[in-house]
Amino acid sequence: MLRRTKILATLGPATDKEGVLEGLFEAGIDVVRLNFSHGTAQDHIDRANAVREMSKKTGRRVGILADLQGPKIRIERFKANAKHGGAEKVWLENGQDFALDINMDKEGGDETQVAISYEPLPKEVKAGSRLLLDDGRIVLDVVNVEANLRINCTVIVGGYLSNKKGINLLGGGLSAAALTEKDKEDIITIGQIECDYVAVSFPRCAEDLHEARRLLQAVGCYAGIVSKVERAEAIVPDVMDEIILASDAVMVARGDLGVEIGDANLPAVQKLLIKRSRELNRVAITATQMMESMIENPIPTRAEVFDVANAVYDGTDAIMLSAETASGNHPIKAVEAMHRICVEAEKQAVVRESDHRINEQFQRDDEAIAMSAMYMANHTKVKGIVALTESGSTPLWMSRISSGIPIYAYSSQEKTLGKVTLFRGVFPMYFKLGENQDHAEVNRNIVQELRKWNAAKDGDKFIITKGDLNGVEGGTNALKVIIIGQGLTP
Ligand code: PEP
Repeated sequence: MLRRTKILATLGPATDKEGVLEGLFEAGIDVVRLNFSHGTAQDHIDRANAVREMSKKTGRRVGILADLQGPKIRIERFKANAKHGGAEKVWLENGQDFALDINMDKEGGDETQVAISYEPLPKEVKAGSRLLLDDGRIVLDVVNVEANLRINCTVIVGGYLSNKKGINLLGGGLSAAALTEKDKEDIITIGQIECDYVAVSFPRCAEDLHEARRLLQAVGCYAGIVSKVERAEAIVPDVMDEIILASDAVMVARGDLGVEIGDANLPAVQKLLIKRSRELNRVAITATQMMESMIENPIPTRAEVFDVANAVYDGTDAIMLSAETASGNHPIKAVEAMHRICVEAEKQAVVRESDHRINEQFQRDDEAIAMSAMYMANHTKVKGIVALTESGSTPLWMSRISSGIPIYAYSSQEKTLGKVTLFRGVFPMYFKLGENQDHAEVNRNIVQELRKWNAAKDGDKFIITKGDLNGVEGGTNALKVIIIGQGLTP
């Protein structure tokens, strides 16, 4: 059963174990995430190589997304604490005092204070600011700031706090630039990996994404840019559109975003981000805690089943697994569960209907052909669409229209085949045109390829979109209808 919604699985220690990557391929992953917040450069290179090898072995193309850490602001470390069996953690009581200090020993945290390394923080908060630590599990209210060095707080919601936990400012507004020195070093590693996508964490504006693209291109990397929307500033209407347009894909990064804007605001923002990304011809990824309980358990909760299905109804291109696959106990089962939930959700009529851009004028002929193919496919009995593509634009335009019909992206360009792994309803197929082939011969080869993958049988109607000239970007100028086994098709 073809699944249209793509599954993006984060790699980590759990997927390094013997047989797990193979199991993930069998369960149907489409893209893997290399999370540069954890692990060494060599870990990421090794994992990328393993994925490329597995793709060769299985004939299934799986995309690679490298996720830069970005300016995640963190507390430093605690001293070994005898009260907690020597563990480097403390217990904070509601109502007690607690300070964050940029001058103290980075290893010297205790029940009263802990070091931070992000020097601007004392200048960027004031009395009354609310700080959320460890994804909002610990809440601190700022009482005052001493000499731009030490932030004195009251604990509003206490609990255990351990080394290196993240800090967010409720409502956003921290000035930290999206690309850190570590990100710039990691970009050099990414240049060696040949990623299909690179994710930029905490972008504030379009320029953060343009800068990442420039730095990547300087090391020969032409990957698609994914903006992780996780700052309150990024969802202000005009900024949101600018960020989407500067990206190839947008990730609804519900972890940090939920901390900055409040969890209750997340569902509406998720729907808006997905809708806007599709309207602007960009790809949407829904991320974080989708199958959280499967880190421990072999089956999802009912709420997680609904969350995955609702993301499909929202129109997301891809759904992401984080710790569920990177360090969880059941990485393969988590992918299997996502697969079966998506397949059922995609049967609903609501995810197959579309009035996307129905009243718009199109600027380009290739764009108009892509839209016409989808309109025809959705209104007649078409089994599938084959888009011959150089850059991936035609299948991208097509896949913005909700449909139940598979779009096969045929390309000889490895980069294009890698990019389409994220597009909803688009399936990459390697296809090289011979020299001087006429249209009839090209059609015959297309059909042979469909038959090879059991994607077509006698009597099936297919739409093919292609151009007169091979190897030309933007050259699509023809829409052809064929019936398998009839006329000149084998
Ligand atoms: C998030 O915050 O939701 C997210 C995807 O970021 P990361 O997993 O990289 O912290």
